[in-house]
Amino acid sequence: LEHRNSTALICKRQDLPRMANTTRAPSADPAPDQPSEGYRTLLGLISHEYFHTWNVKRLRPVEFAQHDYGQENYTQLLWFFEGFTSYYDDLLLRRAHLIDDAAYLKLLTKTINQVLQTPGRAVQSVAQASMDAWVKYYRQDENTPNATVSYYTKGSLVALCLDLTLRQEGKTSLDAVMRALWLRCQGGPMTEGDLLAVLQALGGRSFALEIAQWVHGTTDLPLRPLLAAQGVKVLEEPAQLAQRLGLRVTETAGVQIKIVLRGGAAEQAGLAAGDEWLGLEVGPAKSISAWRINKLDDLLLYAANASKVCALVARDKRLLKLPLALPKSITTWRLAARDSQLIGQWLNGS
Ligand SMILES: [Zn+2]
Repeated sequence: LEHRNSTALICKRQDLPRMANTTRAPSADPAPDQPSEGYRTLLGLISHEYFHTWNVKRLRPVEFAQHDYGQENYTQLLWFFEGFTSYYDDLLLRRAHLIDDAAYLKLLTKTINQVLQTPGRAVQSVAQASMDAWVKYYRQDENTPNATVSYYTKGSLVALCLDLTLRQEGKTSLDAVMRALWLRCQGGPMTEGDLLAVLQALGGRSFALEIAQWVHGTTDLPLRPLLAAQGVKVLEEPAQLAQRLGLRVTETAGVQIKIVLRGGAAEQAGLAAGDEWLGLEVGPAKSISAWRINKLDDLLLYAANASKVCALVARDKRLLKLPLALPKSITTWRLAARDSQLIGQWLNGS
């Protein structure tokens, strides 16, 4: 958001709805009254930047009170300014009835899985990620997911956890906290201490422990119990093959390994970013067969139910054979509505 009273946002032409029906989704979409994915993403971006009018342009880190555009400006608070704005961007689409509960839970599922699939969340806190924005966030490389966490996505989940905790304790909500923070800081510079003071005043207790663990710590957020208490059940489903192996690849010219995630099967096998995955050997010792793969899912074709294969990869000028386990137990989350009344209270902001 460049200005307090205007901004320029870019989207693809086909993301925009057609004049005849402003929200119609492609016919394959199971919910025809919901916006298409492209249009919903644009609405989310508009919502995000609009929220920044209050949260970043007015309420802002005390370090940004006087902007010096000639040098880097460091702050620990981007988990609040970008993260909480990210929490509200999709939530406000739901409150405006542009999307329904199911669509909102789907978006939340995506954010949660993004964080859970980032090993760097166990290494870096969102406060550290914020400080590193100038040197790391906008200079990503193959080690980024292993060494860093996004203050956007995890920051939005910190907001979610705070909101659900406040609601479940029954004294206040994050909406009220944001308004009180605005009044306390007169829509101007703020510190983490201001947030803690408002949480204490409205929530009736100290939230120092939560902020220490969720913002300055690296243990996982208590998403499952907080969502359950709000009527949302967490279901676990088998992950995509790349996630099961702990890999990110491109497949436009063969299978090129871009990222090897910390602690995954690919890392254990010795695969590395920059490798080209050519094929695999599979089968018992007496009758091994070798196969070429052009995309990652070809692996499933040839490996069938094998729990182990041998990956054939090209690394610079060498060809390598790397024994690779195919783990089955890696899962991703899906959120399912269990109590629509509880969910409605939260999503309607009542
Ligand atoms: Zn933003």
